[in-house]
Amino acid sequence: MSIFDLNGKAAVITGGNGGIGLAMAKALVDAHCAVSIWGRNADKLQAAAKELGARGGNVHAVSCDVTDPHEVQRSFTAAVDRFGRIDGCFVNAGTGGGGRRSFLERTPEEWRRMFDVNLDAAFHVLQTAARHMVANAEAGRPGGRLVATSSIGALFGVARNEHYGASKAALNALIRALAVELARHGITANAILPGYSETEMTAGLFANEKFRDAVIPRIPMRRFGRVEDFGGIAVYLMSDASAYHTADCIVIDGGYSAY
Ligand code: NAP
Repeated sequence: MSIFDLNGKAAVITGGNGGIGLAMAKALVDAHCAVSIWGRNADKLQAAAKELGARGGNVHAVSCDVTDPHEVQRSFTAAVDRFGRIDGCFVNAGTGGGGRRSFLERTPEEWRRMFDVNLDAAFHVLQTAARHMVANAEAGRPGGRLVATSSIGALFGVARNEHYGASKAALNALIRALAVELARHGITANAILPGYSETEMTAGLFANEKFRDAVIPRIPMRRFGRVEDFGGIAVYLMSDASAYHTADCIVIDGGYSAY
């Protein structure tokens, strides 16, 4: 199992105070990776840090709104100060569309907000992390992992959520470009595309019986995703086992997209 041992490595996880991000942080901690979790909600952040600490994790919790480039820079610097070096960056914070309104009613503000959180913030965080990793490479310490939580919404037509799908499709394109540009420094870049999964973001959607009844039969595994389903991929992408795995959009959806 030593190829999955992350002892001596450190990762930043945006949106690491809940949902898929916290599940990734738990799996990373269990594999002995130090983690810097970022989020806005102070109570969730505190509870997540406590939970990770109880698992024996070396945890750094940072209050950060990732749409603010200054906060991103401050938070990343704090993480580097704490751990000395950041080996992996999980750009996971995101917002959902809710699926409440038709495209015909979409306001420019809703469209802008979606891209602020799901794409522009990813740009701020990934650029900050990439600059750090390239500087390390130029100092003779190559390597680094960039990972984005995208969505199968980038692949499918999701009615009333076109702004969400568009933001995640752009995120996939961003990741592929970084994989090509940064490979010479030993840096990999991949996207994880979860299918429908039970988190705070989807609680409203999943409360809708009509939605559940329509979607479950389309999932060969016959269940929605659970946050724990995304821990293993986080550990793999941080580990030496994935050193040659880059520019991928990894779908984890219980088979939904193949059916
Ligand atoms: P979640 O539990 O609602 O998590 C969203 C996370 O993003 C929270 O930790 C939240 O922290 C953080 N966040 C949102 N806006 C932020 C901001 N401006 N600055 C800093 N942090 C911010 O939902 P989730 O399902 O785990 O979502 C995680 C990722 O998975 C998202 O990118 C989402 O698009 C993606 N995804 C989810 C599903 C699904 O079915 N659940 C499917 C495909 C993709 P605060 O609460 O502190 O703001």
